[in-house]
Amino acid sequence: MKLLRKSCILIMTAAVILSSGCSFDSEYNCEFFAMDTVMTISAYGSKSESAVKAAQNEINRLDKLLSVQRENSEIYRLNRLKEMTVSEDTLTLITRSKEIYTLTDGAFDISCEPLIREWGFYSGLENKVPSQQAIENALKGVGAAHINIENSRVKLDENTSLDLGAVAKGYASRKASEILKENGVSSALMSLGGNVRAVGSKPDGESWSVAITNPDDNSKSIGTLKISDKAVVTSGGYQRYFEENGQIYHHIIDTKTGHPADSGLKSVTVVSEDDTLADALSTSLFVMGLEKSKEFYSQNSLLFGAVFITHKGEIFVTDNLNDSFMSKQDFEVISV
Ligand code: AMP
Ligand code: MG
Repeated sequence: MKLLRKSCILIMTAAVILSSGCSFDSEYNCEFFAMDTVMTISAYGSKSESAVKAAQNEINRLDKLLSVQRENSEIYRLNRLKEMTVSEDTLTLITRSKEIYTLTDGAFDISCEPLIREWGFYSGLENKVPSQQAIENALKGVGAAHINIENSRVKLDENTSLDLGAVAKGYASRKASEILKENGVSSALMSLGGNVRAVGSKPDGESWSVAITNPDDNSKSIGTLKISDKAVVTSGGYQRYFEENGQIYHHIIDTKTGHPADSGLKSVTVVSEDDTLADALSTSLFVMGLEKSKEFYSQNSLLFGAVFITHKGEIFVTDNLNDSFMSKQDFEVISV
C-alpha cells in the first residue's frame, strides 16, 4: 500500500498519473475537462468530496468567463464589442496581465489573439504559416498600450483582441485552491493541464513530488520538484505545435515578431506561491530565452524559481530551487 501510495502522488506537469487503484480513507479524486484540457483534483480529509466539487464548479465558472472561444464568455464579448464593463475576476486578470507585460518587457502579451488566430491555434481553425502581410496586419493591435482600463470598464483599440490562455489556468488554480481551503481541505494536489498546484503537504506531512516532463518523450520526466503550498507551471513548444515543410511551429508567440518564439528553449517550468504569476512567467521566460531569463531572475528571484530545458537538452535550475529539484541528469545552477 505504501508503494502504491508513493506511485500515486508523483504527478507530471503535463499529465496526471493518479491510478484508479490509488484510494485510501477520505481521499477524493476527480477528473474533468475544462479550459481546453484534462484536469484532476485529489484531496484528502473528511470534507474532500464536497470541497473538490466546489473547486470544480469554480474552475467551470472561470472557464465560462475567461475563454477566448466560448461564445458569450466575457472575453469573447469584449473582443467583439471592444468596450464593456467586466466582472471583478476578468478585471483583476486583465489588470495583472498588463502589469506582467511591463515586468517582462512585453514577453507576456495577452493582446496576442490576432496572431494566435493567424497561426490557426484555435480549435476549428487550420494551422498554417501566415503570410508576412497577415502577420503585419495582426500586429497592428498588439501591445498593452492598446488595452485601456477605466474603473471596471475595459476598452480595446479597434484591431485589438485578448487571449488569456497563458494565465487563466493559473488564476483558476489559485481560486480553486482557496476554495478547497475554505471548505476544510488542507492537503490536495491539482493538475490543470500543465499547471500543478499543491495545497499544503501530503497527508503524511511530506512534500509533494512533481515531475517535469521530458519535452522529447512526454511519458518520461527529466527530474522532480519537491513542493508544498506552491504552483508549478510548465510552458513548452512540445505542448501544442504543427509541422509545415519539415519545420515545427509552436503556440507560444513572440509578439515582437509575430512568429513562434525561437529562443532556444524546449520548456520552462516555474515554481511560485503565486499561481497567476507562475503561469504568466512560464510563458514569458519561454519567449525570453535563457540569457534574458537569467537577467530577469537576478532581479526577481524572490518571486519565482525556474527549470529550463534547452534545445541542446541542457538543464538549468535557479539556485532558490537547490533544495527541491532532483535529477539523474546533469544540470547547471543559475545563481543570483
Ligand atoms: P502557456 O501554455 O501558459 O504557455 O500559454 C500558451 C497560450 O497562451 C497560447 O496557446 C496562446 O493562446 C497564448 N500565448 C501565446 N503566446 C503568448 C504570449 N507571448 N503572451 C501571452 N500569451 C501568449
Ligand atoms: Mg502560462
